Amino acid sequence: MTEYFEIHDRDGAARGGELRLETPVKTPALVDDVLDNAGSKWTKERDQPDGDESVLTVLPHRALPGGTPEEVKEAFSVDYPDVEFPSAAVVSPDTATPQGTDAYVLSNAQELSGHAAAFVEAIIRTREAVPADTALYLPGVATPANVAVLAYAGVDLFDTDRAVVKGTQGKYLTTDGEAFLEDLEELPCACPACQQPREEFDREDCAEHNENVLRAAFGTVRERIKAGRLRDYIEGQARHEQWLTAVFRRLDQQYSYLEQRTPVLRRAEITAATDDTLRRVEIQRYAQRVTERYRCRFDKPLVLVPCSARKPYSDSQSHGQFHDAIQYRAHLVSMTSPIGVVPQELELTYPAQQYDSVVTGNWTATEIEFVADVLAAYLDANEYPRVIAHLPEEYREICERAGEQAGVEFEYTAVEHPTTTESLSNLASTLSEESKYMKRERQHNTIRAIADYQFGKGAGDELFSELSVGSRYPKLRAKDDDGEQLAMLVPEYGLLALTIAGARRWVDSETPTKRVEIDEFVPHGSVLAPGVVDASEEIRVGDEVVIEGPKAFAVGRAAMSGPEMVESSRGLASSVRHLEEK
Ligand SMILES: [Zn+2]
Repeated sequence: MTEYFEIHDRDGAARGGELRLETPVKTPALVDDVLDNAGSKWTKERDQPDGDESVLTVLPHRALPGGTPEEVKEAFSVDYPDVEFPSAAVVSPDTATPQGTDAYVLSNAQELSGHAAAFVEAIIRTREAVPADTALYLPGVATPANVAVLAYAGVDLFDTDRAVVKGTQGKYLTTDGEAFLEDLEELPCACPACQQPREEFDREDCAEHNENVLRAAFGTVRERIKAGRLRDYIEGQARHEQWLTAVFRRLDQQYSYLEQRTPVLRRAEITAATDDTLRRVEIQRYAQRVTERYRCRFDKPLVLVPCSARKPYSDSQSHGQFHDAIQYRAHLVSMTSPIGVVPQELELTYPAQQYDSVVTGNWTATEIEFVADVLAAYLDANEYPRVIAHLPEEYREICERAGEQAGVEFEYTAVEHPTTTESLSNLASTLSEESKYMKRERQHNTIRAIADYQFGKGAGDELFSELSVGSRYPKLRAKDDDGEQLAMLVPEYGLLALTIAGARRWVDSETPTKRVEIDEFVPHGSVLAPGVVDASEEIRVGDEVVIEGPKAFAVGRAAMSGPEMVESSRGLASSVRHLEEK
């Protein structure tokens, strides 16, 4: 039971939370001032501390170094008592188990600093062994340069020990690394400790400066997490230290750890400035869903066009020109780094509408490989009578690679640039023999394509076998033949919000339903974690969920992952959009 820690924001594995002490502490944070360590049992037998709500008490413990033999660990393991005050247990990655405490202290944290592989393994093992709604504390490791990446990995609590020690050693810390005080001609900082002549600034001041910069770094991290943009920040900031870059790249390789913790929708924009962006969960998940779940329902030629800076693409001038040339005679798919390929029905779907990339006209080798692979997989999964590449010259290599991989011949219609008069007229004339599709077909295909993307392969046909679509794009409403509304398209995220009737269809269909089973109560507006009896493991933050209990059938949007709903004893598990009492 976690009473004194609560998570409010989730940004990948990073969490913005609150240590609920007498004076609450927003996390990730430094906890030096609110920590009471009851001490190690190695040195002497310890009495159980009294504890109180003003501090986080580290219960008496016996820490063991990494690599301690199993039988030694067992012989010396500590049974932590149930206590009524904010408490933390000391664990190692090998021995971590739930102890009923609010926080867990990683005993060998300092050994891990600087070692990316060991660090990532230790954090993931520990994080997965202890309940999701508890805080993880890494003592003695925080520096202004590393806290963003450590928080990104899922660490919540830190202290000033390392920063202060470094200061007394004459090491001047910043968010981009450290310098020897002696080497500094000026103090590149505006903190109070640095407001004095350089020659009077001593090691004591240096320790104070380090602590100030460290505190400020936590402010940045907490704001970034709240905005859902910590990843954008570390892609730039972590570059200053090799081992930190290695940490977040290794985390990318631990896809399931990050994927389970990454929302399926959010408002925050993704800034794509480096090849590392291609390995983000949001990008990989989009590519995977487009190539594995989505199916093109238009019986028309494919026209590949470049993305536009303006989102959604259909609002841009260039896409307006493509549209005028195509005139509903082809299926439009945009090509882009970092997203890959975006079918016209999914132009609103997160993150196709929420990214911004640095456009130079030159693709990196990694971008070319990624987009070509996604396009090849897309062409394998969808059969078109013709494939027309209406693209600038720099896309040619991608088309040739993808065409070769998928065994598809491309027709090229752009001369110099796709928006030149000649190019547009080529595009129009190459489609002159093709017939048009109707608005109704476009709307139906949009609803079904989004359902495939959102709920799984074939979901569009299963959930919307009979369909009539009302209202104007993008605010489409999906109804059944009797006019009962099943879902509406949410333009901000390009995803469907189901009604009760839509949720019932989902439950009755072959498409796997994401379910939250609740206790015997009627949830009004939301479901809190303690009310959750069970939840599908596949639920991610932002997913549509069916909520059902003895007294209610409801549909809403998940605010936690499925595993987190089950493990947590505090916090909002899901919103409730529509409800039917039983
Ligand atoms: Zn300073």
